Amino acid sequence: MNYINNSSDLRSVCNLLHEKDKKIGFVPTMGYLHRGHTTLIEEAKKSNDVVIVSIFVNPTQFGPNEDLDKYPRDIQSDLHMCEEFGVDIVFCPNVDQMYPQDDLVAGVYYPELTAKLCGKYRPGHFNGVLNIMNRFFILIEPDRCYMGKKDGQQFLLVQKMAEDHFQKIQVIPCPTIREYDGLALSSRNVYLSAQERKDAVQINIELETIAQQLTSDTETEPLLKRAITNLKLKNLEPQYFEFVDQDKLNHVDKTQPGHYLLCTAVMCGSTRLIDNYFLDISSDGILSFDKGKRPNG
Ligand code: AMP
Repeated sequence: MNYINNSSDLRSVCNLLHEKDKKIGFVPTMGYLHRGHTTLIEEAKKSNDVVIVSIFVNPTQFGPNEDLDKYPRDIQSDLHMCEEFGVDIVFCPNVDQMYPQDDLVAGVYYPELTAKLCGKYRPGHFNGVLNIMNRFFILIEPDRCYMGKKDGQQFLLVQKMAEDHFQKIQVIPCPTIREYDGLALSSRNVYLSAQERKDAVQINIELETIAQQLTSDTETEPLLKRAITNLKLKNLEPQYFEFVDQDKLNHVDKTQPGHYLLCTAVMCGSTRLIDNYFLDISSDGILSFDKGKRPNG
């Protein structure tokens, strides 16, 4: 496994790989790796010649009062996991490497999409995500980039950026990896107390309950309201619980054929947790959804 922390070194390696027509699979992460991340690596291994994982806690996607300084980090364990899962190159740049002073990278902005859902509660967050992903795409020019559906809005935004500006890069959605009881794996779960960890299970229960009740022509509002009430009864503080279309992220009152995101962000004590289900309703009114994967299937 190659360890690179310098952008120009990575660029030289990628140039060589492109010259040899090697397919590059890229897995961007902020480290503190868990099964959610290693599933992306496994997917990348299946279809590419070379897998590059980045480990970079991107400062531009954190707000002034957020957890940038205390975001969990364990680079030794991350490197072991990357080695174990057969990663070819780990890229661990420092902030100056990604945001040099003679900065020439033009930003990509989708104000209508980045202001909604999580963007409403984390102003500037998705501009930071698009900023770093734009830089990674220019630097690496991967053939495929693997991202978790767990961060649904993030995936949809990066996919849109690729469609608009990097047509050669395929952004591949991977299912949300969950604990046995349904809680989505997240590096931030380490912040939860034992009681909060128990309460947090309710988030997935509410998503699953709504997904099971939706058919075509369902009014979404009463279902969303009930989910919010149930979460509050478990000492959780939902910021939003929404049913939106995947294209514009607009609220949808009544289901009809289309592609949707049922999504929520919930404060569990001082920890912010997000989760979602991607849902599709076919033209003949059949609903299907991706509930992610638990260890027991
Ligand atoms: P992060 O390190 O949290 O920035 O996440 C890096 C990548 O891993 C993103 O594409 C996330 O969506 C993905 N990821 C994080 N947690 C999970 C999970 N539980 N299941 C699937 N993908 C995940």
